[in-house]
Amino acid sequence: MNTSSRDARTDDRIADWVRPQIRALRAYHVQLAAGLIKLDAMENPYAWPPEVVDEWSATLREVSLNRYPDPAPQALMASLREFAGVPTDAALMLGNGSDELIQLIMLALAVPGRKVLAADPAFSMYRMISLFVGLEFIGVPLRADFDLDIEAMLAAIAEHRPAMVLIDRPNNPSGRLFAAADVRRVIEAAPGLVVVDEAYQPFSGETVMPWLREYPHLLILRTLSKMGLAGLRLGLLVGNPAWMAELDKIRLPYNINVLTQASARFALGHSKMLEEQAARIRADREYLYQSMAAMPGLKVQPSRANFILFRTPAGQGERIFAGLLARRVLIKNLAGAGLPDCLRVTVGTPEENLAFLAALAAVLQE
Ligand SMILES: *Cc1c(COP(=O)(O)O)cnc(C)c1O
Repeated sequence: MNTSSRDARTDDRIADWVRPQIRALRAYHVQLAAGLIKLDAMENPYAWPPEVVDEWSATLREVSLNRYPDPAPQALMASLREFAGVPTDAALMLGNGSDELIQLIMLALAVPGRKVLAADPAFSMYRMISLFVGLEFIGVPLRADFDLDIEAMLAAIAEHRPAMVLIDRPNNPSGRLFAAADVRRVIEAAPGLVVVDEAYQPFSGETVMPWLREYPHLLILRTLSKMGLAGLRLGLLVGNPAWMAELDKIRLPYNINVLTQASARFALGHSKMLEEQAARIRADREYLYQSMAAMPGLKVQPSRANFILFRTPAGQGERIFAGLLARRVLIKNLAGAGLPDCLRVTVGTPEENLAFLAALAAVLQE
């Protein structure tokens, strides 16, 4: 058998059968990070102390890998409700990361011709998953200061009648926390679902969870990823029980594996440790912000998340990104996301932040 990946017959058959929208996509590129100071992906930089790791390993020893996971793990869901402050009359659904939950909501709404609307820039998966499921994505540009252009949002909602509006609050990649009053206006104007994505809530301290009682078409996303458990893949969707019952029909029954369930329960038993790490990251974010803001030529965006977006002098983004990489510091270059000369650094440990600042100062002087 010919196992080479490219031959004419395979190409023809792919062209015949794979949806054109999918063929036109490029695969999500994850940058290799071995040996680098990794400040590109909004991960929590702190590992657990050895005694906590020992205790966790002991819990995992009890897990039955030969059994399917509990499809509705009550004890875990109860701890998550408490941890996230989910109102008792709201429903909670778990996903393999919040990415899976975004996909699941979109699958439920995907009728050809329907639209998804979000600010631009916003979390890149909003656009990607819309394309995957055959929904048209409408991006409404943010203002130059990365604030919501509320009049443009309302006009776009009126024009496109989107099935779903997504708002990441704080916004990725800017770190900006949109004004609550603007978010309310979007919710009140939207004809379909509105999803407020609070992935960075541990660093903003803000939530619209109390609004669930007022707006049955509001759903809220949370994740354990950015606060220290990115490897677990556990996202939360909270909302009106009637909406959630519809969505739950298309959730694959065993989407949260046994190791994730056991590890998440264990981690929530150490929520104080996670909260202390988040507090540390918030404080270090301010130090990083002040230090960067003092560097000549940079335009640094205030952030309520665990990362900072900054604009380099015109035409220097690529050079500065490459210069940091040459000094073994990996951050995120947003040129590919339509933001030339914009770079985003994740808050790391104090040592990592100092290494980044030193490398940045050196590259700026080159
Ligand atoms: C990182 C991120 C997510 C993804 O979270 P997972 O739970 O790891 O899938 C969701 N929304 C926003 C805005 C993010 O930045």
